[in-house]
Amino acid sequence: MILDSSQIADYQRCPMKWFLRYSLGIEKKRTDEREADREFGKRVHLFLEKYYKKEEVDLNEIWNTYFQGNEKHKTTEGGLFLCKNFPKFLERIDSQFETIAVEIKDEVKLSDNMSVVVKLDRLVKNQDNIYIVEYKTTSSIYQGYFSRYLIDGKSTAYVNYVKEKYGQCSGIILIAGEIKYYDKPSSPLLHKNSPEIEDYSQSEIKYSKHYGEEMAYCQGYHTKYEMEIINRTKEELEDWKENCILWINDMNKSIETNSFKKGDCGGACSLFKGCEYRELCKMSKGMMFDADILNQIYQHIENPLAYLEE
Ligand code: SF4
Repeated sequence: MILDSSQIADYQRCPMKWFLRYSLGIEKKRTDEREADREFGKRVHLFLEKYYKKEEVDLNEIWNTYFQGNEKHKTTEGGLFLCKNFPKFLERIDSQFETIAVEIKDEVKLSDNMSVVVKLDRLVKNQDNIYIVEYKTTSSIYQGYFSRYLIDGKSTAYVNYVKEKYGQCSGIILIAGEIKYYDKPSSPLLHKNSPEIEDYSQSEIKYSKHYGEEMAYCQGYHTKYEMEIINRTKEELEDWKENCILWINDMNKSIETNSFKKGDCGGACSLFKGCEYRELCKMSKGMMFDADILNQIYQHIENPLAYLEE
């Protein structure tokens, strides 16, 4: 069994969700916003991977097959604009770091017969300090946006891996790129010489009676980039390992007995945009699923672990 920290986190929140996604291998049909969300992030990651490997980047090729669903911000044009503006922010950070590796896939050993797969975006160093760099895309870098990464198992797995492999890890540099869309009534007004005008996909310089001078009327897509550094203590790393072993043992028991509990600890049913299995879950009795709902709304995933191979 190949396990990564996302699977363990899914299982911790709800064993049934883990079963439906990774064991039964089903997902909601492609009309779902979560699909667009995942695809959006994947394409930005692909762009950044090519950018750091210094490969030729054709942004149109990356974005012209994007399925955007009903998303207002995360559209093809939004993706193109976010990628186009990303390097300006990265150049400021990159001047302080040397890249060690890009897109690393490896394992953290938990015990003699258990390990967890890790996939890191990038590893950098500054003198003797090694950092993991992770990229996130969002439609809002709200206040406290990065706090969710202070407790997530994925980040702990990454720090564990780097400490074991390189003997040191100074933390994870989280870089978030935000893409938003402003319609006319909410479009911001900036001074005509403001460098922030470039962060908008459209702008027009017009005389403003209110300000008594020419101003830039901005609208369309807007990008913003922010970074934060987080780390883990020795105790947190040890706890994570112990917890993973316990949860993997629990998972193995559920597989053996073919019985997966429904859980809503941490609000799993409504977490993020809500659990994609809610319709099926509501209509099921234990492990008996409604065949009509299953066939109408869900589809089979050829390889539920394909994301680990990409
Ligand atoms: S709807 Fe809730 S209980 Fe059902 S699978 Fe999703 S998270 Fe689990």
